[in-house]
Amino acid sequence: MSRRIGIAILGSTGSIGVSTLDVLQRHPQRFRVVALTAHRDIENLFQQCLTHEPEYAVMVDPGAAEQLRHRLRVAGRPVEVLAGVEGLERVAALPGVASVMAAIVGAAGLLPTLAAARAGKRVLLANKEALVMAGPLFMAAVREHDAELLPIDSEHNAVFQCLPPAFASAGLDAVGVRRILLTGSGGPFRLTPLDQLADVTPAQACAHPNWEMGRKISVDSATMMNKGLEVIEAHWLFGAPLEQIQVVIHPQSVIHSMVEYQDGSILAQLGNPDMRTPIAHALAWPQRLASGSAFLDFAQIAKLEFMTPDFTRFPCLNLAFAALEAGGTAPAILNSANEIAVQAFLDGQIRYTDIYTVVQSTLERVHGRPVASLAVILDDDAQARAVAGEWVAMHGRGI
Ligand code: NAD
Ligand code: MG
Repeated sequence: MSRRIGIAILGSTGSIGVSTLDVLQRHPQRFRVVALTAHRDIENLFQQCLTHEPEYAVMVDPGAAEQLRHRLRVAGRPVEVLAGVEGLERVAALPGVASVMAAIVGAAGLLPTLAAARAGKRVLLANKEALVMAGPLFMAAVREHDAELLPIDSEHNAVFQCLPPAFASAGLDAVGVRRILLTGSGGPFRLTPLDQLADVTPAQACAHPNWEMGRKISVDSATMMNKGLEVIEAHWLFGAPLEQIQVVIHPQSVIHSMVEYQDGSILAQLGNPDMRTPIAHALAWPQRLASGSAFLDFAQIAKLEFMTPDFTRFPCLNLAFAALEAGGTAPAILNSANEIAVQAFLDGQIRYTDIYTVVQSTLERVHGRPVASLAVILDDDAQARAVAGEWVAMHGRGI
């Protein structure tokens, strides 16, 4: 029996998945990769299987799973290939897996991430959409099954690092926290004249000034819907009401977030914008690991700037705040409409500025309700996707 820590990576072919494998590869004595998963990217998952020799590989697409199985058999590799969401849920709960990196993008990550929590794993949470959609259910599953939830999102990982251990059982007030300050760079369009925003292209929206990420989160960073989702994420992770969370624009992305205390102290976590730092932190916690990230050189940074967000430029922020205040399934509806809108923008069907309109009009038409069960969330998710899709079909350019 190996004494190395078994890891499953949900979404191993994505930006976070690849960074996770990079960190793991630096510490072969300590970790072993038990399972890798992807949607339908056969070539990359095949190559990852050759390099990292997992016991399991999952392709959500059944046809892709069959092809991967065939290629691995021909290559003489003993990897068990599973298919579908059931395959994802199964590897997230394997007895040989101690930590699950939840790095699928979007609502597709909800069920497997929940399966990891229900199996009592250490959940390394990158998939913020799962928590936005199902916050109360997800946090209850973590508590009931004694899972460990460690944030990978750089802001939340920073906040976690700036909180004392007593916070976990006692809450923010008991440890003297006044506010959580979430930083955000303002993305590629922070200074773009407002009248040019309607014409920006997907390539421009995905060219983030500081971070290299998947396309969906890159567009979310441009609209700052990402920061809105992160405020909701912080609400659930840290038990903070909206009034206790403040968004601060910080274009250099050096301070990843801060915690302000009652005595006037502010603790910040700094580092180069490299996701391998929070990934290594969460993999090793409460210890520390070399991540491969370059060390910060203050002389080179020279200056750090801060400003308040401009809600005219970033109206999606307001939608997210309103959804959090409305509660129930409103954040799930917001998230699902946003996923449809971002995909339509990336596909050239709608303009960048339509993303806000799609989400706003979907929130007006689909009314949230209390989160009584997972079925309620999935039902409202489906409704929101249908309504947002109708908007795109009616107003989109349909290329
Ligand atoms: P990505 O698009 O690069 O990768 C997504 C991964 O999910 C891929 O492995 C893909 O195969 C898989 N996937 C896509 N659709 C799927 C589906 N329907 N079913 C199963 N698997 C599917 O995304 P990313 O940038 O790595 O982001 C992953 C998550 O991490 C997102 O929730 C994002 O918000 C969060 N996150 C990312 C970063 C970053 O720097 N990239 C930072 C903070 C948080
Ligand atoms: Mg983030």
